Amino acid sequence: MEHTAPHPAPNQAQRRAFLRSGGLLLTVVTTGAMLASRQARADDGLLSQASVHYQTMPHDGQHCSNCAYFIPGQAATATGNCRLVGGTIDPDGWCVRFSS
Ligand code: SF4
Repeated sequence: MEHTAPHPAPNQAQRRAFLRSGGLLLTVVTTGAMLASRQARADDGLLSQASVHYQTMPHDGQHCSNCAYFIPGQAATATGNCRLVGGTIDPDGWCVRFSS
């Protein structure tokens, strides 16, 4: 019967230092992502129009009224809203988050 030696126990001090540095890195990355997200989001929690390069003109045949995120207004030509982007949205508009 073959007997293998157990793996040596990791150095507890090194392990704790590694975990601390990982936790610090995670905190820095998370905080940075939260700040970037907050800057891109308007007060209503949606993305700001500027952050998604919203424009009131179509782009290569794509426009808000045929985007999956568009919430139509009362009439086909009326301004509506968007599930992602804050503010009123022109059905002929477009942004970089367009999704068919
Ligand atoms: S995601 Fe962009 S393209 Fe789509 S409806 Fe919203 S603003 Fe328009």
